[in-house]
Amino acid sequence: MPLFGAHISTSGGVEKSIERAIELNCEAIQIFTKNNNQWNGKPLTEESIKAFKDGVKKAKIKVTNSHDSYLINLCSTDKNISKKSHDAFLDELNRAEELALDYVVMHPGAHLGKGESAGLKTLTRAFNNLMKETRGYKVLTLIESTAGQGSNIGYKFEHLKEILDGVTEPERFGVCLDTCHLYAAGYDISTKDGYEKTFSEFNKIVGIKQIKMFHLNDSKRELASRVDRHEHIGEGKIGRDGFKFLVNDQRFKNHAMIIETPKEDDFMKFDSKNLNFLKSLLKERIHVAHSAVP
Ligand SMILES: [Zn+2]
Ligand SMILES: [Zn+2]
Repeated sequence: MPLFGAHISTSGGVEKSIERAIELNCEAIQIFTKNNNQWNGKPLTEESIKAFKDGVKKAKIKVTNSHDSYLINLCSTDKNISKKSHDAFLDELNRAEELALDYVVMHPGAHLGKGESAGLKTLTRAFNNLMKETRGYKVLTLIESTAGQGSNIGYKFEHLKEILDGVTEPERFGVCLDTCHLYAAGYDISTKDGYEKTFSEFNKIVGIKQIKMFHLNDSKRELASRVDRHEHIGEGKIGRDGFKFLVNDQRFKNHAMIIETPKEDDFMKFDSKNLNFLKSLLKERIHVAHSAVP
């Protein structure tokens, strides 16, 4: 069974995410290690780090990851933004390593008119500098597939392949696939045929082993819209079937699957609703299997 979880608020301190994760029965969690709309954050305190790590162990959370700040654009050729992005991503790797997180999930960024190929090269160079500065770190950097909104790169499997081929320490990287982004980018995972085709194409181009975790979000917008709008699971354009294929896919039975669906004004209510819906799709499969036994 996949490790279901959610993006959890760290309001009040990173360690506060644990009690929320327990309430939601999460086996995996995603957090921001600082305010995601700011370049800088206060350093994590020793107490906070210890409380978080102890909490993860006690709550039996199996996979932990952070998501990088939305301001970071490692594709930028603007000196000022490029420096700020580098420093902020380095800070993120440091925080993740301190908290012993498994992964930092990041958006590959926007080329802002320089072209996709230039953007991919700038990003790869930025990664290589960052890896040199963080030798020996255990945390893996996961490149998130994007919807391809605006000039964002990372919406084609070929982009992910090019980045992974360009980095000097590929073993420190992997991919996080976001279902909403896949669909908005034109990969139709809502039908059985489309689902199979998407993953066989991914396997051919990038390699299925590169997938380390998933973001599970339905999409408010149409296939290939290139617009990133998350919807509650089963209520968007992907619909329940697409998620049924994914949660029952034996290739991903030990993968973390994190929801980033709308929380409205009540994360407990909406996150648990979405997580329960996903788990119900899983039971369906087990039920079918049992009834097939003579
Ligand atoms: Zn995502
Ligand atoms: Zn998104």
